[in-house]
Amino acid sequence: MDIRFDNKVVLVTGGGGGIGRASALAFARAGAKVAVTDRDVAAGEETTAQVKALGAEALFIAADVMQAAQVQAMVTQVVAHFGRLDCAFNNAGIEEEHMRLADCEEATFDRIMGVNVKGVWLCMKYQIAQMLAQGGGAIVNTASVAGLVGAPKMSTYSASKHAVIGLTKSAAVEYGRKGIRVNAVCPGVIRTVMLERAVQADPKVAATVAGAHPIGRIGEPDEVAAAVLWLSSDASSFVTGLAHTVDGGLTSV
Ligand code: NAD
Repeated sequence: MDIRFDNKVVLVTGGGGGIGRASALAFARAGAKVAVTDRDVAAGEETTAQVKALGAEALFIAADVMQAAQVQAMVTQVVAHFGRLDCAFNNAGIEEEHMRLADCEEATFDRIMGVNVKGVWLCMKYQIAQMLAQGGGAIVNTASVAGLVGAPKMSTYSASKHAVIGLTKSAAVEYGRKGIRVNAVCPGVIRTVMLERAVQADPKVAATVAGAHPIGRIGEPDEVAAAVLWLSSDASSFVTGLAHTVDGGLTSV
């Protein structure tokens, strides 16, 4: 099935980064109008320019997903500009942590939980209100394989991504009858700056990650985007509450 988003309005958070940018561009190629948002203005504006270069309508909104007022304004701005919000990809996230649990600082725990859990919760809170008002929608949240299994030296990150799956499943159950589907993607290791930072913190990571995936390599942002588009589209109309791995078999071992 050819997945198309003609006349659909899509919001991508963390749109300035690897998976977010790849997804924004994939939505644009599939005909969507795309609202790109990020707290990194330069990165978000660059993605927006790339989306426009594909001939799609695009809007950049600077927003920190941890700040309720900014998230509420973000959704309001999308609706003011495009008239509605059909699909939301809540993808902004941070890892930061490259140490064992007992060595992690409280402030680091709070930042990771703030962006990855509170951020996804706030985005869904305001997106769902809009989708209820217009009669439906589809939401995809970025979790991780670390949301399904433990992650050494990333215990807070792992806890945050387990929480994203909890939010996803609960919202899927609460709003299924209202025409709102909510799913998560759980990427394995994907080639983005997040991986570059992990390799810088521990050079051994580079040698081990590829082999950990039964497919024999790490993933590409476009491969996650393909799953995000499917979960956002009518092609997955009977799918909700799913934590969809895109992990080259990593969690099957
Ligand atoms: P990235 O760092 O390239 O992109 C993340 C983007 O989120 C950046 O543009 C950043 O500015 C933005 N962001 C961070 N905090 C924000 C905030 N408070 N408000 C708004 N925007 C914010 O990394 P990526 O690898 O593309 O990560 C995207 C998502 O994928 C994250 O949720 C990450 O946890 C998840 N993920 C990544 C991998 C991987 O291997 N790269 C694996 C599994 C899951």
